[in-house]
Amino acid sequence: MKISIITIFPEYFPQALAVGILGRALEARLVEVDLIDLRDYAEGTHRAVDDAPFGGGPGMVMMPEPLAKALDPLEGTHRVLFTPVGRRLDQAMLDRWSDLDHLTLVCGRYEGVDERIAEHFIDEEVSVGDYVLAGGEVAALLVTEGIVRLLPEAVGNPCSVVFESFREGLLEEPVYTRPSVFRGWQVPEVLLSGDHRRIAAWRTAQRRERTRDRRPDLLEGKCNVEEW
Ligand code: SAM
Repeated sequence: MKISIITIFPEYFPQALAVGILGRALEARLVEVDLIDLRDYAEGTHRAVDDAPFGGGPGMVMMPEPLAKALDPLEGTHRVLFTPVGRRLDQAMLDRWSDLDHLTLVCGRYEGVDERIAEHFIDEEVSVGDYVLAGGEVAALLVTEGIVRLLPEAVGNPCSVVFESFREGLLEEPVYTRPSVFRGWQVPEVLLSGDHRRIAAWRTAQRRERTRDRRPDLLEGKCNVEEW
């Protein structure tokens, strides 16, 4: 899989891409990340990529021309623009994108990107949450990590990405490790019982209870809400 990232700050990424699962996946060539410096497509001595907004107002807007030139060769790839006005990122999007051969991520800065880019060069506009960041680079890193850990062979135990939060629309149950008593706090007795059926039933109940308490929105639309 290839992920192309269009940014004015390519230097933002290398350190994060070198560690953990991402670092191992890149080294093993499970994924290739191409950092595209938007300023390479800008004109003039200052290689400006932004200009004042039509109609007035604060801040600057990213000009369409450099972005279009950077995106033209990437036509045919799945092109995602990060913007607070996009659809909210979720696990289903990451699952879907992890099956692609080539994904393009466009990082905005300033007050955002000229709307004609969103309209004519972008397949999906995506937000990473209801807050405003200074740029799309955090989002691009977040998506890259979220996708790469789904690639076959990227994580040591493939089951770990199957049994986790948001699978089957539920949050994960609480997890514990040694010692079984820590500062007087006990691990739930059932987990020490060795009774796998009881453990499985406890985990399912915990997933449901947690989701009901913390994220009831995940249960909306489920047929038998009472049961959950
Ligand atoms: N003026 C824009 C607005 O109010 O919606 C915010 C622009 S923000 C300061 C600059 C860039 O950061 C955006 O173009 C986008 O690429 C990125 N960004 C900021 N918050 C984001 C979010 N919640 N999700 C995705 N991208 C975001």
